[in-house]
Amino acid sequence: GVAELPPLDAGMNPAQREAVRYLDGPCLVLAGAGSGKTRVITQKIAYLLRDCGYAARNVAALTFTNKAAKEMAERVKAVASASAIKGLTISTFHSLGVRMLREEARNVGLKPQFSILAADDALGIVQDLIATTDKGRLRAVQHTISLWKNALVEPEAAERLAATEGEREAARAYRSYNATLRAYQSVDFDDLIRLPAQLLERDAEARERWQSRLRYLLVDEYQDTNACQYRLVQLLTGPRAMFTAVGDDDQAIYAWRGATIENLARLTTDYPQLKVIKLEQNYRSAQCILHAANSVIANNPKLFEKKLWSDLGAGDPIAVVPMDDDEAEAESVAMRISAARFERQGHWRDYAILYRSNHQARVFEQALRNLKIPYMVSGGQSFFDKAEVRDVLAYLRLVANDDDDPAFIRAVTTPKRGVGQATLEQLGTYAGERQVSLFAALFEAGLEQRLAARQLGPLREFGQFIQRMQWRAGRGAAHAGAVTSSEPAGPILDDLLQAIGYERYLYDTFDERGAQTRWQTVLDLVGWLKRKAEEDGMSLIDLVQHVALITMLEKNDDEDPDLVRLSTLHASKGLEYPHVFLVGVEEGLLPHLGKDDEEGDPAKAAESFEARIQEERRLMYVGITRAQRSLHVTWCKKRRRGREDVPREPSRFIKEMGLAADAPADAMPGLSARERLGRLKALLGKGG
Ligand code: ATP
Ligand code: MG
Repeated sequence: GVAELPPLDAGMNPAQREAVRYLDGPCLVLAGAGSGKTRVITQKIAYLLRDCGYAARNVAALTFTNKAAKEMAERVKAVASASAIKGLTISTFHSLGVRMLREEARNVGLKPQFSILAADDALGIVQDLIATTDKGRLRAVQHTISLWKNALVEPEAAERLAATEGEREAARAYRSYNATLRAYQSVDFDDLIRLPAQLLERDAEARERWQSRLRYLLVDEYQDTNACQYRLVQLLTGPRAMFTAVGDDDQAIYAWRGATIENLARLTTDYPQLKVIKLEQNYRSAQCILHAANSVIANNPKLFEKKLWSDLGAGDPIAVVPMDDDEAEAESVAMRISAARFERQGHWRDYAILYRSNHQARVFEQALRNLKIPYMVSGGQSFFDKAEVRDVLAYLRLVANDDDDPAFIRAVTTPKRGVGQATLEQLGTYAGERQVSLFAALFEAGLEQRLAARQLGPLREFGQFIQRMQWRAGRGAAHAGAVTSSEPAGPILDDLLQAIGYERYLYDTFDERGAQTRWQTVLDLVGWLKRKAEEDGMSLIDLVQHVALITMLEKNDDEDPDLVRLSTLHASKGLEYPHVFLVGVEEGLLPHLGKDDEEGDPAKAAESFEARIQEERRLMYVGITRAQRSLHVTWCKKRRRGREDVPREPSRFIKEMGLAADAPADAMPGLSARERLGRLKALLGKGG
């Protein structure tokens, strides 16, 4: 019971305590990294439940990533009893959006089993609308539409706003894109927030329903919300405005996704009664780390004055180590981690390797493998973006919602089952004329006039197979007139995988090793789905509906948390690690300087260039402030670009940290990287 839980005020300074106890109106905690903002949220949840009589189902906390949601749930479990938190919502904006849309589907003109399209499915729709196969151009259109959606700009307005040829192209596609999504009974990721916001905007009844359900809202990482999320928070909390937002303008790193720091300032004007609380003590990092972070960020213009200090002691000096190339960098980092863990008898999970871009991960993975160091990659290509995962999920999506035409096409053609492009085109034309989904079209008698029996055969066989699965999953009533019965997800999954011959297909398509890895991924997926089904009592249909939002992080965390973390800087936000290796700290990589896309107006180009540097600097600040006890910075003197070695310069941010580009703190001086590696391998070999 409550008695065994730590007293609420323990481990909080007066400013934090004030933020936790403040319930007279909206509250904003604005403070630097590691100052305990997230802790304020978890403690405040406990305070609401334990001391203020809030029911868990009336409280919701919103985070930026699934990983952050999970971490927060763990932190809350430490301060509140299990029974007290049943029904509590700790989720991302997107998961909350899904929940709202499922419940309110009919009010927004969707059926409850609508599907959620990931970016690459939605790209197929864009491709249908824009006659080009240029992936870059398609992605640009998709991105522009996404930014409009996140800024709550509707197609009419977009047409007026479009200034460049690219934007005009996107604006022309925008309306049809939405219509197509609707026709497929699907939504994209942006809709998960946009549609609930729109619903609450126009439907007073729905608004009251949600406002009385969510009596208190807490939002972490507020600086990275976009206009749409801002609006949703505003509508969910209504005139009572019972919410606490916490954030740090210096850590705003999602402008490219439409997030806007202005939301912080806007709160103060939209809510004149807003209580603003600042936190100044950092409880995370040793002083020299914090000092470096502060001096980097001091180069950015300040929106809000912030002081940040720590009394955790000076700590080890920060090492800055130049490397010959990326392989040497990876080897050296892997070796250091191995040696340090060995010396300290610590955990693998105390070490994180943080980098700017996903493509940097590969060499580090190889180096870690060579030394048999267990690791996990987060924030990289999501597990759910892998082709084999998307293949299998296409079947499941189709079982859950047979209006999902993109899923139909993917499933019916992977593995190949004698359904050719010509057949599909005819099916598509017919479905278009009849205004039905591809799946529905294939059972219509009219199709028999269009297709030869040898074309129709495999199509219908496929359709019946999906129907059988639907029936077993509890969606059969509509087709068979039978009573709805639902089998557990496990056996259905096994039979489905068996029936489609996917393993066989992999071995026919890829070389032995490629097929093996891919098949293992599929088995991981199925195993994970089964566990999820059992633990959370989800049916296959529920599972499929949630899967689009779940990242692999959760899976890995469940299995073996004692792993070295490899992560992009973006994905490391909000987290902390005793020992951090910040790698690839070079001009052109961090700051990453994409090609200058601003044409014409040189003033505008200069401004946006400066704006980009500032965003990169915030990213650097985020990276440095993940470290608790030690920080290693590395950069490469050259890097391979295609077949060429390109010389590299240390990042300007190293100087801004107040450090020299070569300031090694060497644990094993006098040996070359390779010699040390050899010695270490010998050491590890002896140990077993
Ligand atoms: P970020 O900006 O990186 O998200 P944050 O402001 O959310 O950081 P937290 O993650 O909440 O900071 O806290 C940083 C660390 O300091 C955590 O390990 C937390 O448990 C610890 N901490 C926070 N407040 C206190 C306190 N009053 N006493 C002791 N430790 C604290
Ligand atoms: Mg935080």
